Amino acid sequence: MTFEYAPAPESRSIVSIKPKYGHFINGSFVSGKKHFPTINPATEEILSHIALGGLSDVDKAVIAAQKAYTKTWSKLSGKERGKYLYRIARILQERAREFAVLETLDNGKPIRETRDIDIPLVAAHFFYHAGWADKLDYAGLGHSPKAFGVAGQIIPWNFPLLMLAWKVAPALATGNTVVLKPAETTSLTALLFAEVCQQAELPDGVVNIVTGDGSTGAAIVNHPGIHKIAFTGSTDVGKKIARAIASTEKKATLELGGKGANIVFDDAPVDETVEGIVNGIFFNQGHVCCAGSRLIVQESIADEIIEKLKVRMAKIRVGDPLDKNTDLGAINSKEQLVKIKELSAIGDSEGAERWSPQCNLSNKGYWFAPTIFTGVTQAHRIAQEEIFGPVLSVLTFRTPQEAMDKANNTPFGLSAGIWSEKGSRIFWASQHLKAGVIWANTFNKFDPASPFGGYKESGWGREGGRHGLAAYLKNGKESGSN
Ligand code: ADP
Repeated sequence: MTFEYAPAPESRSIVSIKPKYGHFINGSFVSGKKHFPTINPATEEILSHIALGGLSDVDKAVIAAQKAYTKTWSKLSGKERGKYLYRIARILQERAREFAVLETLDNGKPIRETRDIDIPLVAAHFFYHAGWADKLDYAGLGHSPKAFGVAGQIIPWNFPLLMLAWKVAPALATGNTVVLKPAETTSLTALLFAEVCQQAELPDGVVNIVTGDGSTGAAIVNHPGIHKIAFTGSTDVGKKIARAIASTEKKATLELGGKGANIVFDDAPVDETVEGIVNGIFFNQGHVCCAGSRLIVQESIADEIIEKLKVRMAKIRVGDPLDKNTDLGAINSKEQLVKIKELSAIGDSEGAERWSPQCNLSNKGYWFAPTIFTGVTQAHRIAQEEIFGPVLSVLTFRTPQEAMDKANNTPFGLSAGIWSEKGSRIFWASQHLKAGVIWANTFNKFDPASPFGGYKESGWGREGGRHGLAAYLKNGKESGSN
């Protein structure tokens, strides 16, 4: 007997969205010239219109940030900076529901995730970095570490407010001021964050937010008044940024793509592993750079794992992101849906076997059913390229060494997961995997104290923890590329 779930929608009345937004420069909202719509990807409803920032907007923002740095922010003690960060963290907690609903509307991710994961982690990042602001001298990063001045920060659409927190909190804690650009499809929570900066009475110009597209991002990268770039996004754009700053003194952290291996050994606890596989690839619609998008499972237990995985996948609830029972929400944009469909079609044509549970997908909005491909080999493009959607490629192995070779055989090196009941096997595997983050018997767990970043085409530098602080300090010992 199966039970139908009654709808349990979260009310959206807590958010008030203006019909049009400008940029946030020097503590105030200033109007933009051109605008573009931002939509709810679950319904295609136009939510608002976002300003398209040009060179002059970026220039004004950088001037405001420079002035705030020299006149105010660099003169405050770490303890005083920390107070602002604590205040921001507390306001974010007080307004958590508002942020969660707005993020779900603009991004398409389920309210269960914005409410229980994104927004609590956002507040945690501000609390964590608030604690560091007056302790930088004792962080082991050199004597009297110094801020760069103005940091330019460019973020993607998959975790809009969380990526803002990953960037803004360490920058402010270390004494930098910022010019941040959110992604074009998800600017609304960054603009609400600007209101939080006003509410916290953060000195004008310490945080500036210029909205826009890739050209706005490029204007930030190329501005001579910016000394440090922090970017999260695609490897293609990361490479463009690396080229743009190659002949300058600018420092950069780049958090780029991934093709994470979730490796299951024959002694893994099967039910927990199946949960971990689901969390690894279907969390946030698979729009996760560190997603466990390749399942590499020992041949002797592959059939059992796949069978149980299919049973579990049939229970994933796909639909209205504002419904509290929803597990998998909407794909963030039409363009992303096209990319997911294209790469999946390539998986079909290369001979992998596709399977999805029966799902009733709405014909309004952008949707893709949770999908697995079995019979994938290393030569398949779906084993090598980032799909950035709810699509899992399954490969098998016979010996532990083969698992390591397959896991490391991509241009990326961001994340990996190991499933085994044997501690020595977990330690052995984690030493052989070329990945910045390795989870054991879990996946997709994040903490502000834990550094995050990748090898190879997954990026440069680390964010979070003590390592992440170093990347915002001129003489921070641990900064630089890997
Ligand atoms: P995705 O493929 O995940 O959408 P992108 O790398 O295209 O990721 O975008 C991530 C962020 O980088 C967005 O805020 C986007 O506007 C910005 N961006 C795109 N192109 C450039 C560029 N040439 N220089 C700087 N930023 C850019």
